[in-house]
Amino acid sequence: MSTAARFERRRTRQIHVGKVAVGGDAPITVQSMTITKTADVEGTLQQIYALAAAGCDIVRCTCNEAEAAEGLAQIVPRSPIPVIADIHHQYRMALAAMEAGVHGLRLNPGNIRKAEHIKAVATEAKDRGIPIRIGVNGGSLDPALYEKWGGIKPEAMVESAKHEMALFDEVGFDQYKISVKASNVPLMVEAYRQLSEVTDAPLHLGVTEAGPLPTGLLKATAGIATLLLEGIGDTIRYSLTADPVEEARAGRQLLEALGLRERKNVDLIACPSCGRAEIDVIDVATRAMQAFGDRKIPLQVAVMGCVVNGPGEAREADIGIAAGNKRGHLFVKGINVAVVPEDEMVEALVEWADFIHEHGTDAAIARADLAKAEREARLDRSKLLDDKGADANHASERIVEIRRKIGEP
Ligand code: SF4
Repeated sequence: MSTAARFERRRTRQIHVGKVAVGGDAPITVQSMTITKTADVEGTLQQIYALAAAGCDIVRCTCNEAEAAEGLAQIVPRSPIPVIADIHHQYRMALAAMEAGVHGLRLNPGNIRKAEHIKAVATEAKDRGIPIRIGVNGGSLDPALYEKWGGIKPEAMVESAKHEMALFDEVGFDQYKISVKASNVPLMVEAYRQLSEVTDAPLHLGVTEAGPLPTGLLKATAGIATLLLEGIGDTIRYSLTADPVEEARAGRQLLEALGLRERKNVDLIACPSCGRAEIDVIDVATRAMQAFGDRKIPLQVAVMGCVVNGPGEAREADIGIAAGNKRGHLFVKGINVAVVPEDEMVEALVEWADFIHEHGTDAAIARADLAKAEREARLDRSKLLDDKGADANHASERIVEIRRKIGEP
């Protein structure tokens, strides 16, 4: 685990959504939501499989009508990950979803307000051993709380969650997690901070209606990452106006970047390029990203624009490539292992990454002709220096001028 995981995680009690543990010392999980009609069983399952492949641990599907509940009865047994039914307004849909076999429910206290309805759902969930998320949403806050607190305030959101928790307590139900989402990042951050002071229930983090890429990604990351770095949060969801696969990918990548989950896919690092670049870094990095896709190769791969700074700056990467003199210099853990033509850079990168993934770094270095690679690399470096000329900066003339300016003979 990387150094980033040294911050202390707030201790919560643990619940289980199907086979996935949430809270306690369980790894922080990634959630997303399907955007198909839940009654479209095949379409929804296809999306769930794509989400699981992109790193989603738990999926949510809307259960807004009888056909959706019937769809869930067919989806749940075929889903590779636990399925949560999203319920708004109709508490009977929660009962129907449980009958369909879902692994969890999400209730919005803002729109199921009758105490007897909430208690009926909690009692049934308790009997069946199904967890519930209390999903408070700034935008659909109970008008009475809005009035009391003078708007959508962190205190109002926390009070809404506490009200729901009290009803659950009355029927002896404690298998719940809570979210207090808002589209305003500082509001959401403060609401979660306050919530974490009053409960040990696991917390589900999210910035609601974050919007399209790239702004949505930034807003969601700002809110979620801030809280995670304070040790708050047990499961996360990016709410993006985009293909939900992007949500799953973003969630997974954020957790990996913070050192909270083991790396699953390639972590591609690339220099930002500059006037020294010998290739179109953006193009090569994009093609490399596409070539690796969602393949399960947990390596850090570097694409660097020049051989002057590239190999040194990416020395920690498992494998990297730097451009020089129309060729790609491949390096493994900072050791130059091969020099390939520029138009074969991406293919070579993928082939070596595959080899390392299968056989390890030492085997990759052992199979390389290190002497040849170093000879070729040295040739390229001297060619680059020669092209610049022995004194491209006219240094000797400048030195005379510098000395004249500071008064030396
Ligand atoms: S690696 Fe080379 S091309 Fe890339 S930013 Fe650094 S100096 Fe520029």
